[in-house]
Amino acid sequence: MGAVDEFIRAVNEAIRPDSRIPIAEWAEKYRVLPPDTPEPGPWRNSRTPYLVGIMDALSPDSPYREIYLKKGHQLGGSALGENFIGHAITSAAGNILAVFATIDDGEKWNLSRFEPMRESTDELRKRIRDKEVKGSDNTQRRKKFPGGFLQIIGANRPGGLKSSTMRYVLLEEMDEYAGDIGNQGSPETLAKKRTSNFGRKARIFGNSTPTIVGTSPIDRNYLRGDQQKYMVACPCCGERQFFQWGQMKWPAGEPEKARYLCERCDVLSTEAEWKTRGYVGAYWQPTAKGEPGVASFHLPSIYAPLGWRPWAEMAADFVAAKDDPVALKAFVNNELAECWEDLSGQLKSAEIAKRREGYPLRTIPKGCLVLVMSVDVQGNRLEYQILGFGRGKKHWVIDYGIIDGDPAKDDVWTRLTALRERPMVNSFGVSMRVQTCAIDSGGHHTHEVYQYARLHRHVGVFAVKGASTAGKPVIGRPVSMDVNHRGRTIKGGVQLWHVGTDTAKSLLFNYIASDEESVPNDRFIRFAAGLADDYFEQLTAEVYDADKAQYRKLPGRRNEVIDLFVYGFAAAYHPLLRLDTMRDSDWAQIESVVEPVNGDLFTAPLAAPAQPEDVVAEPEEAKGEVNVVAEPPPPRIEQPVQPEPPQETSSWLSGTDNWLD
Ligand SMILES: [Zn+2]
Repeated sequence: MGAVDEFIRAVNEAIRPDSRIPIAEWAEKYRVLPPDTPEPGPWRNSRTPYLVGIMDALSPDSPYREIYLKKGHQLGGSALGENFIGHAITSAAGNILAVFATIDDGEKWNLSRFEPMRESTDELRKRIRDKEVKGSDNTQRRKKFPGGFLQIIGANRPGGLKSSTMRYVLLEEMDEYAGDIGNQGSPETLAKKRTSNFGRKARIFGNSTPTIVGTSPIDRNYLRGDQQKYMVACPCCGERQFFQWGQMKWPAGEPEKARYLCERCDVLSTEAEWKTRGYVGAYWQPTAKGEPGVASFHLPSIYAPLGWRPWAEMAADFVAAKDDPVALKAFVNNELAECWEDLSGQLKSAEIAKRREGYPLRTIPKGCLVLVMSVDVQGNRLEYQILGFGRGKKHWVIDYGIIDGDPAKDDVWTRLTALRERPMVNSFGVSMRVQTCAIDSGGHHTHEVYQYARLHRHVGVFAVKGASTAGKPVIGRPVSMDVNHRGRTIKGGVQLWHVGTDTAKSLLFNYIASDEESVPNDRFIRFAAGLADDYFEQLTAEVYDADKAQYRKLPGRRNEVIDLFVYGFAAAYHPLLRLDTMRDSDWAQIESVVEPVNGDLFTAPLAAPAQPEDVVAEPEEAKGEVNVVAEPPPPRIEQPVQPEPPQETSSWLSGTDNWLD
């Protein structure tokens, strides 16, 4: 039989009424996994039994029109989309739209997933010819077959949706789609509209690893559906249950001995026991009513076939990740297939306000060893905060206030200098001052900020500018900027430091959220008695927006306090201090100066932090050392006989532990 005859036969086959064969059966009958895949050869449903129920929901006889899978990694889940499309091409033809985050992702899928499936599966090769064949209508983005075509598009260019009607839509890795998913005009909504002519015969299949609570597209659709869980049987008592991470147990320090605890009989069984005896007769169970015609499935990596993602590995990864919010988020999303709760959205200002402690503003509680200042510049005022740092990632709000006045005039800056220089005496009688000061130049009065930073550079003042790009360090490298001040230009006159605002905010909100259950002494952030309610309102004025992947200010709210924390972290991590890299021994050394034990009083001024070498101090600032942490104490304290000079500043500034990361 010639190629043309074969093609005509294929056309005839395709235009018959829908073959009612279920997708799982289709896969086992026709699909062959290519030789270069981990498990080549004919598709076997027994290998990934949990995929069968999902394929049934996608099949022609199912009552569902929309099917969503919230999935973890290493479960074979991406093969579902391929089977869905392969079945549609051979058994129930109609136009198919496959939407990927970008067209590049779509072309990659075509090359690495679709084309290998087509080449290794006779039934597909009969209907879509090799792209090398003239007139094959098989391109990277569009494939013609008897009864329809497959169109591959990127969600970032929904223009590719055009006006064709579609019977099948694949929404692959929906949480990676950028933009206003779920709104009118979003790729998700447009794609769904294309299927409206097909009524109940249409099938929309969305899948993804989830991201952030409240904004995750896959989670939003999962919650619309019947939220099915895969029920396995306890190898010991036979009780049906679905896997939850909280039931995974291992002896302390031995994650390789991870076992799963039955909810009913409290017996720990091994992964092999659960995934053999336990998987016999396993089935999907809806746990919610859901909208009519919408099925949804939750599939964490705990279910992966033996050998694909061992529980011992998962437990070890969890132990490694649990104290690091960034690694833990990846574990929760990719392994547990759960949304990560961004903590900023949960913070309640009234709750945090209750954490105000007994110490008044401008007093130094015990344990607070280093002071930094941050300044936010507005059109008609400066706002400032002094933050104290101590061992164990502890922070104290020492002062917060507003300096009203026009930052184009000298007055506000003079008052700022006075506040910055004014010493505060701690309970050990040691006088402390601000060590570094970060001033925001990104808002109003950029050149006044530059000028002030230039003039006070030798006492640790520097200009910062925030960048909300994800993953940036709290403080980056400086760039030289021209200063244009009152008609005078100073070429490269000031160093501008870029600040990773989202990184710093994530740090701040994680600290505040994890303080919820803590007694004051264990808290990361301590608040002074004199802070007004409005301060806490501002502290909760931003939430994480997953669609834009950055923090967003809530409408009508002020948020300067958040910025002051962000710049305060930058001031603390500046190379002059590097508090983020301090080791315990470094802190001990500062402590011996700032909080000297009785009879070992140390009262000599501590050297100012290392200074840039090329500083030319302005006359007004040049007189006297204004930036010391310790000054001679009040008379009630005896002078030590032989005040030891402090160690080289660099010896306690060069630690390597990232205690604040
Ligand atoms: Zn049991």
